[in-house]
Amino acid sequence: MKRFECRCGGRVFFENTRCLSCEADLGFDPTTLRMATSTGADDSSFDNGYRVCRNKVDFDNCNWLLRSDSSDQYCVSCQLNRTIPHLNSGNNLVRWATLEREKRRLLYSLLDIGLPVKSKARGWPDGLAFDFIEDQRSNPAVLEPFITTGHLDGVITINVAEADQLYRLQMRLKLGEVYRTVLGHFRHESGHYYFNLLVGDHNIDAFRHVFGNETTDYTRALDVYYGMRSTTGWESNFISAYASSHPLEDWAETWAHYLLIWDSLETACTEQNLEAPRHVDDIIDQWIDTAIHFNQTARSLGLDDPYPFVINEAIRNKLRFVDGVVREERTRT
Ligand SMILES: [Zn+2]
Ligand SMILES: [Zn+2]
Ligand SMILES: [Zn+2]
Repeated sequence: MKRFECRCGGRVFFENTRCLSCEADLGFDPTTLRMATSTGADDSSFDNGYRVCRNKVDFDNCNWLLRSDSSDQYCVSCQLNRTIPHLNSGNNLVRWATLEREKRRLLYSLLDIGLPVKSKARGWPDGLAFDFIEDQRSNPAVLEPFITTGHLDGVITINVAEADQLYRLQMRLKLGEVYRTVLGHFRHESGHYYFNLLVGDHNIDAFRHVFGNETTDYTRALDVYYGMRSTTGWESNFISAYASSHPLEDWAETWAHYLLIWDSLETACTEQNLEAPRHVDDIIDQWIDTAIHFNQTARSLGLDDPYPFVINEAIRNKLRFVDGVVREERTRT
């Protein structure tokens, strides 16, 4: 994440809707990836000719902008929504706000990297859409007994309960995971979506060489993985235990780490006024140093390691592959 300033020169942050120094309204412009300041003429006019998203007006749940002359009412992030939870039920407004905030951070990275972001709901067959759905485990009044967070044909489904800290912690302990975040879910599931776009048929042989054969029975592989519970021996080849379940999950986990590294390293470099490295091996080297710094600082604060992972040569090679197909896509478009 880059550093943002209000027109008055005050420091502002990606999530802000108002400058604490001059009290001007703020909005994020997804075309320039900069914060814009309201002209004050009316609530929705910004200095770059943009206006606020409908979800800001209706629910105060978006700080992204869209062009004033756009026929759409929603920003590029909110345009991707196909299903949102029932907002009059429980604390769904708060949960939904958490999901949207983390979704915007995912989209920031995708746009910053230069990847295509197209909305299925706006007519792109190969576009992306989001379903945020509750199930009966968190709300007995809804129809769906069990919603699994996942991806299918460009639709990313997130179980709304994942926005609850306690639920996430319970699931993390139950599944023996070392890391479970809403942003991590978004990153992981976006990996399944971009697999079709960036690997597709044209890079499949190279993919299989690095990750293995993705046509292996997926359902069976996941059954075996969840049946074993305490998996060991994966560390030498995989970034997480879950990555060892199937080549497509290995890809999605590696992709999620690629996005995590991109965003976290950009943030760390920005805060220290350093130029972020460009070559994938330099990025990984600097990230490993940065992650140690974060983990050690967290321990001094009495907190758990924020990055409890080890990047060895096998995983570095997978990250190189992800970087290769990302760069190929950026030069193509
Ligand atoms: Zn200001
Ligand atoms: Zn929006
Ligand atoms: Zn997955």
